Amino acid sequence: AKADGRSCSRFFAPEMEAQLQARLAMEADLRDVLEKRQLELFYQPLFDLQEGRIRGFEALLRWRHPERGLVPPDQFIPVAETTGLIVPIGEWVLQQACADAAGWPSDLKVAVNLSPLQFTSPQLSTAVSNALVTTGLAANRLELEVTESVLLQDSGVVLALLHELRGMGLQIALDDFGTGYSSLSYLRSFPFDKLKIDQSFVRGLTGGAGGVAIVDAIVALASSLGMTTTAEGVETIEQLDQIRRAGCTMAQGYYLGRPRPAANVLADLKSTRCP
Ligand code: C2E
Ligand code: CA
Ligand code: CA
Ligand code: CA
Repeated sequence: AKADGRSCSRFFAPEMEAQLQARLAMEADLRDVLEKRQLELFYQPLFDLQEGRIRGFEALLRWRHPERGLVPPDQFIPVAETTGLIVPIGEWVLQQACADAAGWPSDLKVAVNLSPLQFTSPQLSTAVSNALVTTGLAANRLELEVTESVLLQDSGVVLALLHELRGMGLQIALDDFGTGYSSLSYLRSFPFDKLKIDQSFVRGLTGGAGGVAIVDAIVALASSLGMTTTAEGVETIEQLDQIRRAGCTMAQGYYLGRPRPAANVLADLKSTRCP
């Protein structure tokens, strides 16, 4: 047993050391990611099921790292959050997304993800209005996506901020709906325009009647509270049929279009499947 323990620690310690080194290296690289212009936005179509057309695109952040290649957000946003870099990075995202959208046909919107940390920053509403003013994008073409975790912060502050942002004329979507810990009562007091139904529920649609009942219930809840719904992660025609039957307003997912570089957006508008 003693020998095992030793070999164990010999096996794990270097691995943990390597993880720590990798994390520190990423932190260091991330620090000048804006100066080096290594961030890019990809765009994924948001499809309106009632109108049968693309209504906009969600901006999804990518890091084009010289050695690591294209790094997905789940790998570096947590690091950007612990270092506070998410605030300047988030401002860049807002600015870039509004600038890109200003070049699209005016019936298209852009959706931008916000980190809960940006919500605690007093600069948020200034950053949003700066992005709109400098790019000339009409506020009603911008949608901000927040997750339930913002609701864990001081609710008075969050509520005031949400009202201030909506007062500018933009829309707020509650992202990953159904995956947080909150009770549902907050839905009455917070001014969301839209619920984005998490992909896990969309995947559950084909796993029996229970999955369908949950999506039906979310759609009914949203509509009775005056909100629309977007189903995320739609990968198959079967899922698309199910969410259409459930009465979802919008759909998003690989079946309808993958996230693609900004330069492809206008071409994709013509080629995207419009089922
Ligand atoms: P999210 O906001 O829930 O975005 C949807 C994620 O699901 C995206 O992953 C998208 O590429 C992926 N996705 C879309 N359709 C499908 C599908 O049919 N199947 C599957 N399996 N996946 C699909 P991505 O781009 O890797 O982004 C991951 C998360 O990173 C986002 O989840 C969002 O929480 C965060 N994120 C992305 N961009 C930003 C940003 O600019 N700022 C902040 N704060 N967070 C961001
Ligand atoms: Ca999102
Ligand atoms: Ca989501
Ligand atoms: Ca997510």
